[in-house]
Amino acid sequence: DKKDIGIVVPDDWQSVSYDCDQFALPTHYKKYLERVILPRGLVLDRTEKLVLDLFHSLDRSVPVVALCVLKGGFQYFADVCDNLKRHAAAHYPEAIQFNMDFIRLKSYEDDRANEEVQVIGGDNLEHLSGKQVIVVEDIVDTGNTIRKLMNVLAKYDPKSVKVVTMLSKRTPLNTSGYVADFSAFSIPVFFAVGYALDYNEYFRDLNHVCVLNNEGIEKFSA
Ligand code: 5GP
Repeated sequence: DKKDIGIVVPDDWQSVSYDCDQFALPTHYKKYLERVILPRGLVLDRTEKLVLDLFHSLDRSVPVVALCVLKGGFQYFADVCDNLKRHAAAHYPEAIQFNMDFIRLKSYEDDRANEEVQVIGGDNLEHLSGKQVIVVEDIVDTGNTIRKLMNVLAKYDPKSVKVVTMLSKRTPLNTSGYVADFSAFSIPVFFAVGYALDYNEYFRDLNHVCVLNNEGIEKFSA
C-alpha cells in the first residue's frame, strides 16, 4: 500500500512557523519556546483527512483495535479516535465497531536492546489475533521503537497492522528507511514538544507542537 508521508514541513521550518506571542501559550513555558510549528487547529484539520483515508483503507469485515502508545501518543490517539468514531457512525448501518487498548513500551537495558521492546500495561495482547490493528504514535524518529513494536505485535498474529503517527522526522538516523503508513506531518530534525510530546515530562500540557529554544533545553534537562 502507498504510504502517506503527510504535510511536509520544510527544512527551513522557521519560514513556516509562528511567533509564540500570537498564541495563548502557558506562561510557564513561553520563554523556553522558540516557535510554534503546528498549531492545534492545523493538526486537527489534517487529521480529519488522514482518518478519512485510514477509514477507507479498512476491511469492514474484520474487527478493529486502535492501540495507543503511551505516554506521548495519548493526545493524538484521542484525536484519531474522535474522527474514527464519527466516520464509523456515519457509515451506519455498516458501522465499524472498534476497541481501544493502551500500551507503554520499555526498552531493554541490557545488550539485547536490539530488535525488541518490552510492552508494559494494556490488556493481554492475545486479543489482537485476527484483528486489524491501528497503532497510534506521536512521533517516529529513527523508527527503531516502532520496528521493534511491530516485531512484538507480529507474534500475536493480527490480520493487519497499520501505523498512524502525528509526526515523522526526516532524520538520517532512520537507517532502515522505516515509513509509517499514515503520517500527519513530515518534519525536519528539531526537538518537538507539546501536544503530549514531552521533554523530561515537561511540555505535555501545551496545546500546539512547538520547538524548544536553548534556554528551554537547558532549564528542563534531566
Ligand atoms: P524512535 O527514534 O525510536 O523512532 O523514537 C522513539 C521516541 O523518541 C519517540 O516515541 C519519542 O518518545 C522520542 N522522540 C523522538 N523525537 C522526538 C522529538 O522531537 N520530541 C520528543 N518530545 N520526543 C521525541
